[in-house]
Amino acid sequence: AKDPVRVLVTGAAGQIGYALVPMIARGVMLGADQPVILHMLDIPPAAEALNGVKMELVDAAFPLLKGVVATTDAVEACTGVNVAVMVGGFPRKEGMERKDVMSKNVSIYKSQASALEKHAAANCKVLVVANPANTNALILKEFAPSIPEKNITCLTRLDHNRALGQISERLNVQVSDVKNVIIWGNHSSTQYPDVTHATVNTPAGEKPVRELIADDQWLNTEFITTVQQRGAAIIKARKLSSALSAASSACDHIRDWVLGTPEGTWVSMGVYSDGSYNVPSGLIYSFPVTCKNGEWCIVQGLSIDEFSRNKLDLTAKELSEEKDLAYSCLS
Ligand code: NDP
Repeated sequence: AKDPVRVLVTGAAGQIGYALVPMIARGVMLGADQPVILHMLDIPPAAEALNGVKMELVDAAFPLLKGVVATTDAVEACTGVNVAVMVGGFPRKEGMERKDVMSKNVSIYKSQASALEKHAAANCKVLVVANPANTNALILKEFAPSIPEKNITCLTRLDHNRALGQISERLNVQVSDVKNVIIWGNHSSTQYPDVTHATVNTPAGEKPVRELIADDQWLNTEFITTVQQRGAAIIKARKLSSALSAASSACDHIRDWVLGTPEGTWVSMGVYSDGSYNVPSGLIYSFPVTCKNGEWCIVQGLSIDEFSRNKLDLTAKELSEEKDLAYSCLS
């Protein structure tokens, strides 16, 4: 039998955490034959709720779940973890300035970076979910210099999956037949959902989305804004932000990273920019990637037309500004 993998979830008593931990314990993230030990971290006011989640995990009697650590101590939570899913963060409350939220999250991610750097397993893979996800991931990277930068990522897979969902609904095809959309940039309303290279598997073979939906007006406006604003639409309907879809996409992100993307398919991940596609280096930016042997690699050579170029640049500009704001919180 395989050795258990230790998976950290921060903010584990929150809504996404509550949806995510049973998925991990069922093998959705790392495979149906991979035992796991869950490490759950939350803050002291959530300690009792966190213990309740632990009780439910015991009660669910998951065969793959070999242990549960539930703690408010970051060092205990981070010790020996192979995968870290960072969901805990300070939410933006009504009336709060952007800078105040940023400052809270910068201090959280700075201290968690140190805990991970000192105590996580070598080669721990990190996924940041909490917003502002790209910039939180960048802070984590800066303050955990011994963790390879390739191991620090942020979640844009939910946006990617939302884009697949919108195309499948519009064409009335199975979502599993749609592939290779791209989310570029920030996990915010400036993200650019791009269908230029996306295809659909049809009985007559693979066809470009832009051929099947010959409505550039829709693809260049309503489709993009629907994906960008989907989070707000869910909040309006549910009175709570998306949780099951966020948790499910976090599992997709880690699964594809660890186990690989299918041949001919790419996914979107927020990763440390190396200057590909003229995106400034030094930002955590969402790119199309393929994964193999536990490593992601940015898909190269895709054509970028003028419409796309402007959108790639706009979201890069926002990320540079967020980076400056985050750094100004450090001093
Ligand atoms: P959720 O579980 O709903 O969300 C957690 C984080 O994920 C938020 O930052 C949220 O951003 C973000 N997120 C990213 N993408 C999405 C998405 N697509 N849909 C929804 N959320 C998304 O929040 P809860 O308040 O229920 O839980 C947060 C937990 O974190 C609590 O248990 C709390 O105790 C803990 N916490 C930990 C802190 C720490 O570690 N120091 C500090 C504060 C809280 P957004 O807010 O923009 O929706």
